[in-house]
Order: sequence, then structure tokens, then C-alpha cells
Amino acid sequence: MTRTLITGGAGFIGGHVTRRLLDRGESVVALDDLSTGSRENVPADGENPRFRLVVGDVRDRRLVDELVQDCDVVIHLAARIGLKLVIESPLKTMEVNADGTESVLAAASRYGKRTLIASTSEVYGLATKIPSSESDPISFGSPEKGRWSYACSKVFDEFYALALHRERGLRATVVRLFNTVGPKQSAHYGMVIPRFVRQALAGEPLTVYGDGTQTRSFCYVGDVIDGLMEIVARDESVGKVYNIGNPSEIAIVDLAKRVIELTGSDSPIEYVPFDVAFNAGFEEIRRRVPDISRARHDLGFNPTTTLDVVLKDVIESVRAPQPVAR
Ligand code: UDP
Repeated sequence: MTRTLITGGAGFIGGHVTRRLLDRGESVVALDDLSTGSRENVPADGENPRFRLVVGDVRDRRLVDELVQDCDVVIHLAARIGLKLVIESPLKTMEVNADGTESVLAAASRYGKRTLIASTSEVYGLATKIPSSESDPISFGSPEKGRWSYACSKVFDEFYALALHRERGLRATVVRLFNTVGPKQSAHYGMVIPRFVRQALAGEPLTVYGDGTQTRSFCYVGDVIDGLMEIVARDESVGKVYNIGNPSEIAIVDLAKRVIELTGSDSPIEYVPFDVAFNAGFEEIRRRVPDISRARHDLGFNPTTTLDVVLKDVIESVRAPQPVAR
């Protein structure tokens, strides 16, 4: 039975990966500091004998060494996420994303474990070639803007993983995730879909930042996990970088209108200037679309879930009564 260590295993994506692996009869250890993750995303203590949650920090080298040694596969998702947190505390972003990844990758390399590390579409930054491909040059903004600390730390992670692969034979794959969405994504860290859905259901204004013409391409978490599973299963993905996302692009104001329609809400749209929504550390990305031809070709990756299906799923999960806290 494959034993997978998932760092950030109690996060939004980590919780979905955990469930997928447990459903396949595999065994999972989730390492999570519960800073943005939640116990509600994973089985409770004792609920599944093939699952264990370890509450700890990815920068704790002794703990990471022990957990990596005991597993067959490492899926490294732990990271400081959410633009609001990143802009408020670039220092913590750099420390967790660079130092934490270094800790995990060094252990994976020491014990020769198959490793998948999560990077982000944010690394494409201000690149103007749309759609963005893995081999494109990347260009993000000035270090005077705190936003780019996230992209910069993730680029460091990518270089480090690929260097360990080339020089020490680490079987690592880098995955750039593009706006992953679905049920259980928290609204607390700024992510637009859980925010809009909650605002619409509460009858509050939907806060569209800027003029709303900026675009994103949202990918259903279930489709993302299909891609991650294929990567881990295929040796030919070792040493490569993959865009994992859905190329279908939407302007944020159109997203707001669609959420209003699907919830049947009478909420208005409120335009919030970027400098009111964020402080000076902000600089907006106008368009973000993945070129997924590499993932399609190598992995058979084919994200089919439409945005409407995702939105209905998220709306239903927010409407559903929340479990009583134990
Ligand atoms: N956004 C918005 N209103 C919100 C939250 C986000 O208009 O209440 C916009 C944000 O400016 C960005 C897009 O939605 O253009 C996606 O934001 P998110 O934080 O989900 O992801 P990211 O910016 O990392 O792509």
C-alpha cells in the first residue's frame, strides 16, 4: 500500500487529495500547522486507520526528516497562501515557502522519495504572453511590492527541486496550479469565488476589485487532483514542470454576475479600487490563462468541469448546514 506524506494536507487542496488517496485504499499522513488549514478538511482522529494528521511546521527539519523517511511519496502543498496574508507578511511568506520547501526537498532527496511540489501560476507574474507555457520566460514586479514575494519564493522552490533532480537524482515534478476552486475553499484569505458566493448568499454587495476586466481561469479541484495523480503515477513526468489549470478564461465582473444569477441573489456589485482593497504592496495581474498542452500530451490531463458546475457545487456547499464543532 502506498504511503503518501501530504504537507499542507489539511488545507483546501490537501484535504481533497487526502480524501482521493484514502478512497483508493492508500495511506496518508498529513503534516499541517493549521495556520490556514483546518481539521474539518480531513478525517477526525481515529476515523480512518489509514490516516494520521501531524500538527507541525514544515520548517521543523527533525519532524520532516522522520515523516519523509516513513513514506513512499511526498506531495508538498504546504505554503503561505492568500494575497491578503502574503501582502501583510511577506517575511513569513518567504520563510515558509522557501525554508519550508528546502526542508521537505532536502529530506526527500536524502531518502530518494518520489516528490511532487506545488508551485503557482503567480510565477508568470506580469508576463504578457497568453496563454502561458512552462518554458516561457517569467517576469514579476519590483520587490518593493510585497505581492511578488510569493512568486519569488515559489520560483526559488522550482529551481531548488529541479537542481536536486539534475544533480542528485531526486524524482521531483513541479506543478503550477492556476486558481484552483471548489467546495471547502475558505473565504478568509481573499479568494474570489468563496467570497462572492458568501456575499451573494448573505445579500451583501459583491466586491469587485478594480474595474473587473481582469481575468482568471478557474479549475475545479477534482480536475486538479486527477492531474496530480497522473503525475505521481508516471515516471516520465520526473524533472518536469506542468501547468495544471483550466484554460477557460472569465473576467471577474462576469464572474460576479454569474454568481448573482446562480444564487438568485439581489446583491449589487460594488467596485472597490485596488488601493482600498489592498495596501501599497499590491499590483494586479491583468490576465492569467494556462497553456496545458504539455499536461494534456504527457498526462492525458483534460479538465472538463465547467465553471457553472463548480459554482453550483460551491453554492450548495456554502448553503448546506455546517457540521457542529466538536
Ligand atoms: N477579486 C475581486 N474581489 C474579491 C476578491 C478577489 O475582485 O473580493 C479579484 C482579484 O483582484 C483577482 C481575482 O479576483 O483579480 C482572483 O483573486 P484571487 O485572490 O481569488 O486569486 P489571485 O489574485 O491569486 O489570482
